[in-house]
Amino acid sequence: LLSSAVDHLEIGVVVATAANRVVYRNEAAQTFQGTHVGVLLDDHVSAIIDEAQTGRSIARTVELHGPPKIWLALSADPTPGGGAVVTIQDVSERMRTDAMRTDFVTNISHELKTPVGAVAVLAEALIDESDAEVVRRLADHLVEEAHRAVRTIDDLLKLSQIESTKPGDTAVNLTGVVQSAIARGRVVDGGRGVQITAFESADDIWIRGDERQLVSAVGNLVENAVKYSQSGDVVQVRARGDDNAVEIMVADQGVGIPTRDLDRVFERFYRVDKARSRETGGTGLGLSIVRHVATNHGGDVLVSSQEGEGSTFVLRLPADLVVAPPEPSLSDASRPSDRGTYE
Ligand code: ADP
Repeated sequence: LLSSAVDHLEIGVVVATAANRVVYRNEAAQTFQGTHVGVLLDDHVSAIIDEAQTGRSIARTVELHGPPKIWLALSADPTPGGGAVVTIQDVSERMRTDAMRTDFVTNISHELKTPVGAVAVLAEALIDESDAEVVRRLADHLVEEAHRAVRTIDDLLKLSQIESTKPGDTAVNLTGVVQSAIARGRVVDGGRGVQITAFESADDIWIRGDERQLVSAVGNLVENAVKYSQSGDVVQVRARGDDNAVEIMVADQGVGIPTRDLDRVFERFYRVDKARSRETGGTGLGLSIVRHVATNHGGDVLVSSQEGEGSTFVLRLPADLVVAPPEPSLSDASRPSDRGTYE
């Protein structure tokens, strides 16, 4: 009974006699048996048993090279008869998260250091400057760098909010989402002459979801499509659905993304072309936000692209999110033309 109970533990348990002979292993401790990792683990277990037999409790984390790399926390305690009991815990996930967090903090510091450093230098230059023309130029620069820092902080806050809060669950009209994303695209374009068109689809799709997050995600995709296009290029946005999925597609005719970078553009702070991203004022966080929103809704985001030809991003959501359009309430009925718009 006791051994079947111990078999249910997620932690591996190994019991050894005074002669360092293993007399018991629960199921979790047998996970890696018969593999390369299992052989390495046995060596570590044997060593820690030896050490515990001197009468001390020992704890250490061992790193076993994969791929994937595995980190196991081992601890050993002496037992009264001169033997030892060892526990083994897989802490790989925690180690990976820790490493990611450390990386992230380093990245944030770096990303903020650049504009904040520039602000400091420009402000110092301003103090000694008397030429009105130069003062004006420095001040313009200063405002630009300050805005860059603010944008990064805004995007970080958005990302952390999307990560930490459960998405809302109301009926959202995708036509409205598309329209408000297009409105944002037009602001970003600022009259540069990129054309943004919504592909009219016959069906008006409503899904259960978080309207703000969806607007933010599609808005980021349209914003990128505009930023990485030139005057005269066309950006197409389309929402469609079938039995399998609901898709919002944003296609552009812009610079495109090299194949080798396609997998990485969703990583935080990843940019294909640092110089261009700096020019366009990108934070490198937009696509991480899109991916998070997709995941939060049980979906994903796909990209295909051809350098020099353009890119297509598809936000794909599960079809079971689709709901019937809400019954117009009295107040809605009095202004039916508002249906499908979003402010
Ligand atoms: P950024 O703020 O730099 O635009 P994103 O996370 O939104 O950051 O995008 C990451 C990188 O992916 C961008 O720096 C850019 O190199 C590339 N990218 C994203 N969207 C497009 C697009 N529509 N066309 C070409 N490149 C794109």
